[in-house]
Amino acid sequence: MVRPALRSRSLRRIHKRTPGGRHVVHYERRRPGPARCARCGRPLNGVPRLRPSKLRALPKTAKRPERPYGGVLCPSCLAELLRQQVRRSVLQSS
Ligand SMILES: [Zn+2]
Repeated sequence: MVRPALRSRSLRRIHKRTPGGRHVVHYERRRPGPARCARCGRPLNGVPRLRPSKLRALPKTAKRPERPYGGVLCPSCLAELLRQQVRRSVLQSS
């Protein structure tokens, strides 16, 4: 039996095959939940579900969509907010 600390279900089990053909179990902390839109709470696409140490190894362009508020707002919330701002600026200028 594995040592007590590894019996915890808060660790996920990853089954690996070694170069020698043996099957071993690796234990890892579970991945966090998906990043969510700050306005509507919908899960965001294009934002990887990784622990901070793995996230740090990625290039910045792989961590969030490259548009204003990418990784913070979902595209429909962004579109809505932009439309509101345009409407407001049109009203002020007239
Ligand atoms: Zn949203």
